[in-house]
Amino acid sequence: MSPTRTPDVLVVGGGIIGLVTAWRAAQRGLATALVDPEPGGGAAQVAAGMLAAVTELHYGEQTLLGLNLASARRYPDFAAELTELTGHDLGYRRCGTLAVALDADDRAHLRELHALQQRSGLDSQWLSGRECRRLEPMLAPGVRGGLRVDGDHQIDPRRLAAALVTACERTGVVVHRAWAERLTVVRDRATGVVTADGTELGAGQVVLAAGSLSGRLAGIPEDVLPPVRPVKGQVVRLTMPGHTAHTARSTPFLSRTVRAVVRGSHVYLVPRESGELVVGATSEEMGWDTTVTAGGVYELLRDAHELVPGITELPFTEIRAGLRPGSPDNAPLLGPTALEGLVLATGHYRNGVLLTPVTGDALAHVLATGELPEEARPFTPRRFTAAALTEQPA
Ligand SMILES: Cc1cc2nc3c(=O)[nH]c(=O)nc-3n(C[C@H](O)[C@H](O)[C@H](O)COP(=O)(O)OP(=O)(O)OC[C@H]3O[C@@H](n4cnc5c(N)ncnc54)[C@H](O)[C@@H]3O)c2cc1C
Repeated sequence: MSPTRTPDVLVVGGGIIGLVTAWRAAQRGLATALVDPEPGGGAAQVAAGMLAAVTELHYGEQTLLGLNLASARRYPDFAAELTELTGHDLGYRRCGTLAVALDADDRAHLRELHALQQRSGLDSQWLSGRECRRLEPMLAPGVRGGLRVDGDHQIDPRRLAAALVTACERTGVVVHRAWAERLTVVRDRATGVVTADGTELGAGQVVLAAGSLSGRLAGIPEDVLPPVRPVKGQVVRLTMPGHTAHTARSTPFLSRTVRAVVRGSHVYLVPRESGELVVGATSEEMGWDTTVTAGGVYELLRDAHELVPGITELPFTEIRAGLRPGSPDNAPLLGPTALEGLVLATGHYRNGVLLTPVTGDALAHVLATGELPEEARPFTPRRFTAAALTEQPA
């Protein structure tokens, strides 16, 4: 697209969700631009990258499950297409997940999750503690049982973000490295944004994909402001043996994602092919704070150590905190708002990496046709308008 032409679509925010939206819209032949001071940054720089539709199932989130599964099914083709276009290795690993229990309470909780998964027609298998350790010998002797989920995989979100930046460049998306200060609205229609240096960027449609900051863009009328909030997560990165210059190992330290609920807190260990071991994550309602805290690191390592005692030997690489874009029902907001020309792609909370393929497809469809595809309709932002909320049964 020529940088001087007014685009059909302007995407505000170049995290993985904004990037996939821009890429897919451009593929559909829409002249597309994106504005972000640092495209490819955002929560993906911290996220673990679990593609965990089945192990992340929670009571009351069955509608979200449908979207999560639809996206998980698309991942193999999505990853192959993105790699072919960009040459980037995404670290997509079809390794499966093992969710384990350390005490009687955890075991009961996991049994309930298993029952819910079965009622939902999902594929998961109950294993004894011994069977869990046979699969993953580094697990603590105290593991009491677990759920083997062979369909929950992983991807490296940093690589995904970098590949999506390249995909946007290759499909002609014009990228403005700037901060969008305010939405411009003319005669009840969103017409673009004004950037921090006063530049006006016009567009036929504006997609707000600013992650946890989506509710902070000035100029958005109150009744369409997305109810998105930041949910802080701290993540530790270690290096597994066999991946340093001094060690060699024939069996992997961990061969699949291992996770558990320890004293009510979720902890997971995600082993990447590169040798990185991602240990996450805290979940904190702390506003915009992204401080890494001693308490956060302590709790993560303490809980991870209960699961896999051998982690204390591993080299420490990194600790970082990021912000998940949380929504009132933990599900994303996808599609047109009551303000003509303003479309949302935000609120992906703890599943944004998983939901990247389906979000790109749904948003490109709605931008090209004006209609949300069937599978995305329950996620319309209109479910949070005052009228929709008062219609709901108590
Ligand atoms: C600790 C942690 C662990 C996670 N683990 C997983 C996981 O295992 N699996 C999974 O599926 N998901 C996971 N997630 C969630 C996932 O990372 C997010 O849902 C996803 O990255 C959100 O992407 P986004 O593009 O919507 O928002 P963000 O990544 O927040 O990106 C928003 C972008 O918008 C830009 N922006 C904001 N405001 C403006 C503005 N005014 N002008 C211009 N640009 C603007 C920002 O610079 C940023 O680049 C995790 C998240 C965290 C924090």
